[in-house]
Amino acid sequence: MSHFDIQKEDESDDYLLKIKNLKKYFILNNTFLNLFQKKRKIVRAVDDVTFNVKRGEVLVLAGESGSGKTTLARLIMKAIEPDSGRIIFDGRDITKINKKNILHYRSQIHMIHQDPYSSLNPRLKIIDSLLEPLNIHEKKLSKDKKIEACLNTLKEVELEPFEEIAEKYPHMLSGGQRQRVGFARALVLKPKMILADEPVSMLDTHIRFQILSLMDDLRKKHNISFLYITHDLLTSNVIGNNIALMYKGQIVEYGNLSKILKNPLHPYTQALIDAISQFNPDNLKKTKEIKIVDRSTVDTAEGGCIFYNKCIFAMDNCKNPPTFIKRSHDQQVKCFLYENNAIN
Ligand code: SF4
Repeated sequence: MSHFDIQKEDESDDYLLKIKNLKKYFILNNTFLNLFQKKRKIVRAVDDVTFNVKRGEVLVLAGESGSGKTTLARLIMKAIEPDSGRIIFDGRDITKINKKNILHYRSQIHMIHQDPYSSLNPRLKIIDSLLEPLNIHEKKLSKDKKIEACLNTLKEVELEPFEEIAEKYPHMLSGGQRQRVGFARALVLKPKMILADEPVSMLDTHIRFQILSLMDDLRKKHNISFLYITHDLLTSNVIGNNIALMYKGQIVEYGNLSKILKNPLHPYTQALIDAISQFNPDNLKKTKEIKIVDRSTVDTAEGGCIFYNKCIFAMDNCKNPPTFIKRSHDQQVKCFLYENNAIN
């Protein structure tokens, strides 16, 4: 196994991952001709995002599609480079690291995708798919030891009979089994963190809850931290400890998951929760009421609140950028509505 050759900034840190003021903007239609246009459209995919993930914690990153969740995950995985900000992993600044350190980093943090079928090579048997990461990161391990590690991991993700499964190809497995293989591929390197990007959204409801329970078991057994990326607040409620709500590239509310689901403060979080209504079974009988307005024709001041055009509570002050307000030790919200009720 390779090692980092970067010094730790802090040895006694409870946090495995710290994201500090991370930014990634994309310029749309960035062609040669458009270079001469004065106004090019900039998409602020990730816009000054800050959060921490503790060891063994599940942080839910929730928001609609297009809110910047997947770009944020790709930045954390070092698939793309940020424009600015820092990524601290296990006490080390990995924002700008060399190829050798990236290789080691990717043995410690692994991403699981929405579609388990597309993330597995259809021409490889399951055992060969599991051997791949070991062949890259554990070159000195004997072949027998690698095979033993793969079979133990299949057992751990409850794919039985594991020796038979190992010899199958991905198309011979169900969607739920393939997603378990995805977790086995991540686990075989004993990572400290898993980024799970909508890992259950393509599965049937009863399989979803089996996979979420598997994630929870793995977290408890190995103290793995998870960043659970989803647009589905119902599944997040099963597994998450904390939640960060993302809208148009920014985190707008952050804190304890059950507290925020019961008492959402940001108008966007409130609208998102109203839209699903299943949290309280009594709500199923009620008409869904999504509290948003369409003020898209109104010209907002550049840099104002990103929810201004849809917010039913918008005020003149909201044309300025709101900052995070701490409402309790475990709930923060980026909204002017709470500026007179902040705690220190
Ligand atoms: Fe609405 Fe203003 Fe709060 Fe933004 S800052 S969410 S516009 S009330």
